[in-house]
Amino acid sequence: MTKPSASVSIDIAGAGPAGLAAAITLAQAGRQVVVHEMQKEVGHRFGGDFQGMENWTTREDVLVVLKALGITTDFIATPCRNGTVFDPAGKAYEIKSEEALFYLVERGPGPNTLDSALLRQAQSLGVEVRCNSRLRHIAGDGILAAGPRAADAIAVGYHFETDMADGFWAICDNDLAPQGYAYLLVMNGKGTVKSCMFSGFKQEKLYVQRTLEAFQRLVGLQMKNPQAHGGSGNFRIPRSAYSGRHPLVGEQAGFQDTLWGFGMRLAMSSGVLAAHSLLNGANYDKLWQRQLKPQMENSVVNRALYSMVPNRGYGWFLRQLAKKTNVRESLRRQYQPSWYKRLLSPWARHRYQSQRKDLACDHADCHCVWCREQNCVQGGGR
Ligand SMILES: Cc1cc2nc3c(=O)[nH]c(=O)nc-3n(C[C@H](O)[C@H](O)[C@H](O)COP(=O)(O)OP(=O)(O)OC[C@H]3O[C@@H](n4cnc5c(N)ncnc54)[C@H](O)[C@@H]3O)c2cc1C
Repeated sequence: MTKPSASVSIDIAGAGPAGLAAAITLAQAGRQVVVHEMQKEVGHRFGGDFQGMENWTTREDVLVVLKALGITTDFIATPCRNGTVFDPAGKAYEIKSEEALFYLVERGPGPNTLDSALLRQAQSLGVEVRCNSRLRHIAGDGILAAGPRAADAIAVGYHFETDMADGFWAICDNDLAPQGYAYLLVMNGKGTVKSCMFSGFKQEKLYVQRTLEAFQRLVGLQMKNPQAHGGSGNFRIPRSAYSGRHPLVGEQAGFQDTLWGFGMRLAMSSGVLAAHSLLNGANYDKLWQRQLKPQMENSVVNRALYSMVPNRGYGWFLRQLAKKTNVRESLRRQYQPSWYKRLLSPWARHRYQSQRKDLACDHADCHCVWCREQNCVQGGGR
């Protein structure tokens, strides 16, 4: 790989966590960076959403990891240790963790969100962020960070105001969220309720309705000013995360937690790695394959196993989880390489297939009419 010349500006397509983390890393090394965001504001896709920043894939706390990467933690991150998960019969299982299992963060353009904190840090380092700027082609040096290119899962529901106490609740029930889970997150008088489904997208409305009814029945869900919200997730381990000579980061590469869809950390980590590859002339594929691929491969095995659980199996699974005194540590182990995960990996990769199947047109380096008309961004040839 050749290093881009230090005087040349680097274009980044997409101001999500992946693109902004890449921009921050490049700007910290003194590089000129322009981030193009096709929406009118950063975080637009997620305005008002609450998301969980997972804290189980590393022994070190995720906020310590972010600081070590040079990424700001100047956003509100509420540690969540204990919560309640229900099986399809409505039986409650208490989930306990000694340290934060995840941090609840707000997404979107608001003052305390992850997106705004990343934007502030990037701008303070001199990064130019151009909104309403859809990048269709990068001619020079650049990074592609344009988000999901296909829907392997969707999460649909509402944001709302509420008098409910803070907390998190989930339901494992294929009649509410096929092969996924329904969740309710409440923080400081605001909440998010969603059905996160891995199949059955055409019945989306039915699953959302059932999710609302279940949370009303089980925990007394109250919503004021509900706003519909949803989005898709794209989970895929690519053979190469280059489009032409440009690194693909975050969900544009397919980097996601295939089990449950916790993609923010992988987005930021891959953004930082791609920036390092440009700065040092290192091969980005080698970097992400060493640092991110083992965790993603294990999450594919976890997904393949989880997607086989019938409704009557969730109770057993949740009983095992509720017996643990520190669920964070148990989950961490589930994401670590082990002999049986390695053994199951070929089967799991065969069983789990991303919707982004047609490699003839995966919106990368393609100029077909579909790509020309979609919001994809194309890299220049290597
Ligand atoms: C409803 C929902 C709930 C989720 N909950 C969680 C959660 O609890 N925890 C978690 O960790 N993850 C969660 N995720 C996943 C997480 O949001 C994503 O993995 C993460 O945002 C991916 O970051 P990214 O930067 O790769 O892409 P994005 O955040 O999608 O950012 C891509 C940006 O690129 C812009 N763009 C696209 N095309 C162009 C173009 N051609 N030119 C310029 N700009 C362009 C888009 O407008 C967008 O702003 C959730 C996702 C959804 C949909």
